[in-house]
This record gives sequence, structure tokens and C-alpha cells, in this order.
Amino acid sequence: LFAGQVDFLKGVVAMSGLPDADRTEVCFAGRSNVGKSSLINALTGRKALARASNTPGRTQEINYFTLGENHFLVDLPGYGFANAPLPVVEKWQALLKRYLSGRQTLRRAFVLVDARHGIKPVDEEIMTLLDSAAVTFQCVLTKIDKVRPKDLEITLRQVREKLAPHPAAFPEIILTSSEKGDGLSTLRATIATIK
Ligand code: GDP
Repeated sequence: LFAGQVDFLKGVVAMSGLPDADRTEVCFAGRSNVGKSSLINALTGRKALARASNTPGRTQEINYFTLGENHFLVDLPGYGFANAPLPVVEKWQALLKRYLSGRQTLRRAFVLVDARHGIKPVDEEIMTLLDSAAVTFQCVLTKIDKVRPKDLEITLRQVREKLAPHPAAFPEIILTSSEKGDGLSTLRATIATIK
């Protein structure tokens, strides 16, 4: 699914740069270092497709990829830098808000959460933003190869509890490891069913 059908389209720094809204769109969001680039690369079967462009101070781009014939995959800049300068954070938040509430063809956001850490306050902020923009979001746990089954259960319980109050949360949680390949086919199939 989607193999060999993924291409980088463009990096966007303002709403005016968004491509024509002529495809179904899903986006990927997550704290920096959550494993977002690794997951997108593993998902699309391309090495180094998602550029590690989420260093503070560097351009905070929204990266667009075409996925097959009918979808855009959108890589949002990583959030939650401990020491990012305030203007960078504010600019990013403003663009994110405009993107999430203004993009008609955006059908679902995948919010990536490190299986070792669970949902952090900064993730909850994004989830609240998604609620108000009425964008359905689905939680994707990353790096599950790094946790023991018992600890994964603990994270899952925390995640379910934290998701419960969010009206835009999709109930199913996808468990992934870019390293081992777990959950990738589920994630691909999930995207493919989103029309
Ligand atoms: P990003 O900042 O969210 O794009 O995160 P990266 O994809 O750059 O990953 C951050 C770090 O986590 C890197 O050192 C990756 O090698 C590591 N990593 C990412 N995914 C996995 C995974 O599934 N398993 C393991 N063990 N490490 C991972």
C-alpha cells in the first residue's frame, strides 16, 4: 500500500503556500524527538524522506507529501522544544491554528506519543486545539520496541484516560515501532480508508 507512491511536494511556511485542496489530507503531529520522521520514513518505505527540519531556529515548515493518487500526507513541525525562542513558538502556533481550522480537506490528525512517556501537557494542548478545530485525531504510540509489555499497558491506560475528555479523539490507538515495523500496515490501511 502506497509503496513507491510517495513524493515530497513542498514545504510550507504560510497558509498562502498550501497546495490546492484537491486531495484528502492527513497530518502527523508530535513532540520533537517522538519519532515522527522515522515513522513517516518507515511508513512510506523511503529513507530520509521526512527531513529532520524540526530544530529550533530553523524554518518551521509544514511538509507536504503526495501519498498515492488521492492523499496528502502532511508533516507538521515538531513541538515542545524546551528552549525554543518565544517568537518561534508563537509563529508556529499561529500557523498551526490557521492550518487546523482552515484546511477543509484535512480529515484526520495523527498525534504521535512516545510509548515510554505517554501524553504530556504539550500534547494535550494540541489535542485541545484539534477539538476546537473539530479535526478528528488519532493517537499513535511510537517506539513500542523500547518498552516492556507491562509498561506499554501502563502507557495505554494513561493515554486512554487522557483521551477520554477530548470530543475529537478517535478511540482506537495505533501501536508502532519504526525500528521493528510494528503497526505500519495498520497505519497505512487506516490512512487508505480515510476518504
Ligand atoms: P522526530 O524528531 O519526531 O522526527 O524524531 P526522529 O524520527 O528523528 O527520532 C528520534 C529518535 O528516536 C532517533 O534517535 C530515532 O532513531 C529514535 N527512534 C525513532 N523511532 C524509533 C523506534 O520505533 N524505535 C526505536 N528504538 N527508536 C526510534
